[in-house]
Amino acid sequence: MVAAEPRVIRLLMELRRQGISDPRVLGALEKVPRQLFVAAPFLDQAYENHALPIACGQTVSQPYIVALMTQALAVNDRTKVLEVGTGSGYQAAVLAQLCRRVYTLERHKPLLQQAEQRFRTLRIHNITAKLGDGSRGWPEQAPFERIMVTAAAHDIPPLLVDQLQVGGIMVLPVGEAGSGEQDLVRVTRLEQGIDIQHLGPVRFVPLVEGIADT
Ligand code: SAH
Repeated sequence: MVAAEPRVIRLLMELRRQGISDPRVLGALEKVPRQLFVAAPFLDQAYENHALPIACGQTVSQPYIVALMTQALAVNDRTKVLEVGTGSGYQAAVLAQLCRRVYTLERHKPLLQQAEQRFRTLRIHNITAKLGDGSRGWPEQAPFERIMVTAAAHDIPPLLVDQLQVGGIMVLPVGEAGSGEQDLVRVTRLEQGIDIQHLGPVRFVPLVEGIADT
C-alpha cells in the first residue's frame, strides 16, 4: 500500500481528535482521494477540514461531517444504502468502501455525470447513480437498510421513512437551509413509528424538489 500523504495524515488525526473513532471510517477517508472531487481552484484545500464549492452552486461537505455521518450510519459490508444528493460523489465513494452497494440520486445532471466519471476513474463499481428527485427516494430499489441525505430537508421526509426497512437508520440534516444551521438527526425506523437522536448543528444546502433544468 502507498503511504498516505502528510496532509491526509494531518486531516485524519484532526478527525480523530474531533471524535471520529471508528477505524473503518477513518480508513475509508484515507482511501478516497478528495482532490479528485474538488474543483481545480480549490485543489490546494482538498485536505483542509472544510466544505468546498462544486458546480451548480452546491458544496462538497466538510470531511468531519462526511466522517460523522458515515460513522452515525453504522454500515457494514453487507449494507445496501441510499444516498440523496450525489453532488461531487465524495460521500458516495466513502460509503462504497464500507458497504455492499450504494444507490445515489442527484437532481443536477452535470454533477451526476462528473461524479459517475470519478467513480469510473477510481474503479468503484458498487455505486449506482441516477438523475432523480431524492426527496421521493428510489422506490424500485427500496427497502434500504440505511439512508443518508446530504441536503437539508424542512422535516423528515415521510417517503424516505417508508423506504427504510424496520430497524434501518437514516441520517439527515433537518431545518431551514439559508437560516444558518440545521440539526443533524439519526432516525431509526421502529416496528411502529421512528426514534430520533440529535447529533448536533450542521450547515447544508437545501433539499430541493424536482429535477434541475441545468
Ligand atoms: N454528498 C455530496 C454533497 C453534495 S451537496 C458530496 O459528497 O459532494 C447536496 C447535493 O444534494 C447537491 O448536489 C444538490 O444538487 C443535491 N440535491 C438537493 N436536493 C435534491 C433532491 N431532491 N434530489 C437529489 N439531489 C438533491
